[in-house]
Amino acid sequence: MTADITRLSAATLAAELAGKQMSSVEATQACLDRIAEVDPQLHAFLYVDAEGALATAASVDRRRDAGEELPALAGVPIALKDVMAMRGVPTTVGSKILENWRPPYDATVVSRLREVGLPVLGKTNMDEFAMGSSTEYSAYGPTRNPWDHDRIPGGSGGGSAAAVAGFEAPLAIGTDTGGSIRQPAAVTGTVGVKPTYGAVSRYGLVALASSLDQAGPCARSVMDAALLHEVIAGHDPRDSTSLPGPVPDVVKAARTADVRGLKVGLVKELNGPGYQAGVRQRFSEVVELLTALGADVREVSCPNFTYALGAYYLILPSEASSNLARFDGMRYGIRLGDDGEANVEEVMARTREGGFGPEVKRRIMLGTYALSSGYYDEFYGQAQKVRTLVQRDFAAAFADCDVLISPTCPTTAFPIGEKVDDPLAMYLNDIATIPVNLAGNGALSMPIGLAPEDGLPVGLQVIAPPRLDDRLYNVGAAVEAALEDRWGHPLIEEAPQ
Ligand code: GLN
Repeated sequence: MTADITRLSAATLAAELAGKQMSSVEATQACLDRIAEVDPQLHAFLYVDAEGALATAASVDRRRDAGEELPALAGVPIALKDVMAMRGVPTTVGSKILENWRPPYDATVVSRLREVGLPVLGKTNMDEFAMGSSTEYSAYGPTRNPWDHDRIPGGSGGGSAAAVAGFEAPLAIGTDTGGSIRQPAAVTGTVGVKPTYGAVSRYGLVALASSLDQAGPCARSVMDAALLHEVIAGHDPRDSTSLPGPVPDVVKAARTADVRGLKVGLVKELNGPGYQAGVRQRFSEVVELLTALGADVREVSCPNFTYALGAYYLILPSEASSNLARFDGMRYGIRLGDDGEANVEEVMARTREGGFGPEVKRRIMLGTYALSSGYYDEFYGQAQKVRTLVQRDFAAAFADCDVLISPTCPTTAFPIGEKVDDPLAMYLNDIATIPVNLAGNGALSMPIGLAPEDGLPVGLQVIAPPRLDDRLYNVGAAVEAALEDRWGHPLIEEAPQ
């Protein structure tokens, strides 16, 4: 029995826990054993909190034994991207500058996990300050893709995606500023959702670009992602950009799984010759599948998406250069060069010089430049105008379509080392995901098969209008059910172990 626990979906685990066929301590211990077995190779985790996770599990078991009515995911273990503050637990954001920092408070997402009773297995690896698409920019070494250990698991949330794909955790939390939940999901054959901006609280999330950042679920099935979405979404007075009003019923939508009569727009600009042949092939098969399921698929054009990547790489560094000014060695994190003679500016400079990696420095310089007087209008101002145009493209497309679709990324997982020294090549991974962050609506990535040329997972991106995240789950679950019928099992089961 124990050997199989880690392969169960969160929904099945939840049902077994509720039916007392298994305890949360057993489920949590199974994940911890799996982590001990495979993480020395995968390196999905930066920190494993066995004691904390087992304590939560034991308390859930006690409450259940006492006859308490518990929420659906109570007792189901989860992994947390290291960008989320968790009281007393190291939170490094993949950076040396926060090495050994233990936050004195919980992020709202973490508080919600605690309230519902999900044992947090530990903190997952990520590109430093969530800047990157491969997890190679982590100050603590790369994470490996469970499908092929010589390949990247995506980024910045490669640790969360690899933990889920490698059966170390049934669920994980990611954050997505330009694609960091969806692109890792695509290249690891898992499901990842970026909810509408403001749907999940940013309180306690170490900020990269505040107008783009959004936390969301990583899972092995659309239903599992929906169950987690339901736990973490909802208004939070501690986040001034948090959406008021009710959360759409994403679990019901995942159960509905019906695309009959749905108008699906295929975004012309997010598919084409720049995309790997096998990615395009799997994508066009899904277009046929959607049609067979009764959806009305048509092509739509979003001409300004062509400029989205350029605008993003002005807006993101601008916001990041401001957000990261707080890491100065004075308030928290490491302090370097404080030899008793250096003045405060020198200590700050030495701390930032030694504490930040090259990609973080590159973006701070870019952002500072773009915001400097004389260049502000030319760069930052122009980028904000492009952002408005991207939003208008979406609005026009959604006037005719219920959802939009595209491949999640142009290629499957690339070899570790291939793009690490070529920032532009790295940035291009997010060409199809970035427009969504600029506009603020929600999107999901899900596995749609393996590319014939390399046998690696391909992701489908489903995009919904702002706030209507339930549509992502409806379409995702319909496609998933049809594909799993065809394959006879979930795609992830083909991942080599
Ligand atoms: N890869 C993108 C970047 O490097 C997205 C990062 C993210 O979503 N956190 O900015």
